[in-house]
Amino acid sequence: MAFIKINKENFYHNLNQIALKTGSKEKIAIVLKDNAYGHGLTFMAKLASEFGIKHAVVRKTDEAKQIESFFDTILVLGDSIIKHEKFSYTINTLEEMKQAQKGAKVELKVDTGMHRNGITMDDVDEALTQIKKHGLNLVGVMTHFRSSDVLSSELFWQQKNFEEVKEKVYRAVYKDIRIHSHNSAAILRSKHFSEDLVRVGIAAYGYDELDKTFDGVTLKPVLSLHAKKVSTRILNEGERIGYGGDFIASKKMTVSTYDLGYGDGWCRGDTQKPFLTAEKLPILGRVSMDFVAIASDKEEICVMNDAQNAAKQLGTISYEVMTALHKDIERILL
Ligand SMILES: *Cc1c(COP(=O)(O)O)cnc(C)c1O
Repeated sequence: MAFIKINKENFYHNLNQIALKTGSKEKIAIVLKDNAYGHGLTFMAKLASEFGIKHAVVRKTDEAKQIESFFDTILVLGDSIIKHEKFSYTINTLEEMKQAQKGAKVELKVDTGMHRNGITMDDVDEALTQIKKHGLNLVGVMTHFRSSDVLSSELFWQQKNFEEVKEKVYRAVYKDIRIHSHNSAAILRSKHFSEDLVRVGIAAYGYDELDKTFDGVTLKPVLSLHAKKVSTRILNEGERIGYGGDFIASKKMTVSTYDLGYGDGWCRGDTQKPFLTAEKLPILGRVSMDFVAIASDKEEICVMNDAQNAAKQLGTISYEVMTALHKDIERILL
């Protein structure tokens, strides 16, 4: 099977860059949802913890349980609300409080304009009342931005809305709670950070999708994807490769099969626009479930070491390329 190398030095470099923005690493909550963006949940949790990160964000309780020992707090973005010493739960709707376990730690998510999840701004007072009524322990208030990565004033009106929310919460005498709204793009472009926490995903893994105008922070890719040679053969001019025979050898050539396919989460792509590996070698013909063909006889090839570049070739974003990578692919530390 293909394998993934994790570059710890680059991961720590990225975390250091983010810490410069937040003022301290204690203010970073590392987002580890979706198998840590394909990097490996427990693997990255351990590295983050060794770096000094104290907080994590995941999607489900099951993920939180796997990394419990590494962090002081773990925010669960969407799951049934249970009482737990370290876990806190996002409140996305008024309804879900009814099923919540008494005494559970919750963080109120307010919809300030993304219109995906969260309580509407008009319902904030009602939500605070309900939290009390259901005996829940409010530990945070948060929002999520819809356009923090684009060059526009979009971010600012949402931030203004969130200021209003904060005031409401403070007025309701919740002083001892953490306030957070920034994802990667928002913290990378921010000049004055004054909240308690950032929820950082993609930037920690080495990418930003920000407009170049904002640059100033260099991030380094953490993950690279490699495949091992399965077999090699010599093809004569006119011979074809793989399903449908989409690739036709224009001359005598050496071709090897490598152990990566769409079954591993690698994108099938488009044979008319062959994917170029990190070493600029094209994938020849169609991607199979478990194999790709490449004009090389090297024992090992690096399929990609820059998910953003790979994403551009595949017509998607770095997030999708990385999270698609199968959990069972071995992750090794560089
Ligand atoms: C995924 C997610 C993040 C992290 O976003 P990045 O762009 O990867 O930094 C932050 N907050 C919430 C609520 C999320 O769902």
